[in-house]
Amino acid sequence: MKLLEYEAKEIAKKYGIPIPQGILIERPEQVNEAIEELGLPVVLKAQVPVAGRGKAGGVKLAKDPDEALEKAEQLFSMEIKGYPVLSVLVEKAENIKRELYLSFTIDRANRRIIMLASGEGGMEIEELAKEKPEAIIKLPIEPEIGLKAHEAREVGKKIGLSGNDLRQFEHIAKSMYKIFIDYDAELVESNPLAITDRGLVALDFRMIVDDNAIFRHPELEAARERELTETEKVAIRYGFFYVELDGDIGIIGNGAGLTMATMDVVNYYGGKPPNFLDIGVGARRDRVKAAVRLLLRNPRVKVIFVNIFGGITLASEVALGIVEALKETEIKKPIVARIVGTAEEEGKKILQEAGIPLFESMDEAAKEAVRIAKEVAA
Ligand code: GDP
Ligand code: MN
Repeated sequence: MKLLEYEAKEIAKKYGIPIPQGILIERPEQVNEAIEELGLPVVLKAQVPVAGRGKAGGVKLAKDPDEALEKAEQLFSMEIKGYPVLSVLVEKAENIKRELYLSFTIDRANRRIIMLASGEGGMEIEELAKEKPEAIIKLPIEPEIGLKAHEAREVGKKIGLSGNDLRQFEHIAKSMYKIFIDYDAELVESNPLAITDRGLVALDFRMIVDDNAIFRHPELEAARERELTETEKVAIRYGFFYVELDGDIGIIGNGAGLTMATMDVVNYYGGKPPNFLDIGVGARRDRVKAAVRLLLRNPRVKVIFVNIFGGITLASEVALGIVEALKETEIKKPIVARIVGTAEEEGKKILQEAGIPLFESMDEAAKEAVRIAKEVAA
């Protein structure tokens, strides 16, 4: 989950990292009050969870109130990489002497958190990584020990820092590492970490938190709500697991393993699932019904493939859920099913009576689903 800049900066501030003084606004007119408090010039920054806002025109400098209002209006009318701008962070502009880069991320190949730093930060960091990779210093961190002060200092020296800047760099690096651990982050990044008149300041701050760890951080609930699609909210309400993808063969399985295997088989026969949908253990008809209705409503879904291996989950409950969903929804879509396990006979009977084709093997059902999807598309 990506935090917005202002959310990440609130965390940075708590950990003692210097950030620009700033005020979040939700309407362009509010920029005046912000200026009264902050003074001029200000930097206006669109709050969207994407990298490269600057290049997309999402960061604007304003020297007087008229210019600030005009630019705030421009920003609020923008959409950046698919995200409409709903809030803008107004910050007191800093006098930049030099832009550095500092981040912590996971180096999966080496199973280490890695610190990346460069003396040439700013908006061209991707180009730098490609054209001059040696300008980015990499420091793998020993998990048992954490980031050592002298290591952070060494990196600081390598990117050309000394004196007070170096001392501050060490402190900021240690704080960012602590944030990374405390928040179960996948990325903590400051670009630029700027050398200004008042020392090092994190002009930009980004954080990505591991989705699987969000339950450990109830204070991030608001950010999580924002990222969920309407469909994902329905899934949470009914207690199934749902991930949106971009194919056209809707999948419903029980258990993460079987659901993933179902997706693999569909892929194997040349199809593409638009979702991962695991109804979980012991699903009753209401949950199944909600799941089926969700896929019926998804315009991308051309056919639904239900693959159930009943254990605690009763095949009969699943079948009833499917049939009720079909009855209650006006949208009609072909469904294929493979249902085995507990209450199999009863389940099959219910589906047969509703005219839903049944398959004994997952392969056969997958092939049929792929065939139908192609037929519907043609
Ligand atoms: P990003 O493009 O989404 O990474 O947005 P940033 O927050 O990094 O801002 C992009 C660029 O705007 C930075 O690299 C800076 O050059 C510039 N910038 C941001 N804040 C300030 C500021 O307070 N003063 C000045 N002069 N430039 C700024
Ligand atoms: Mn940036």
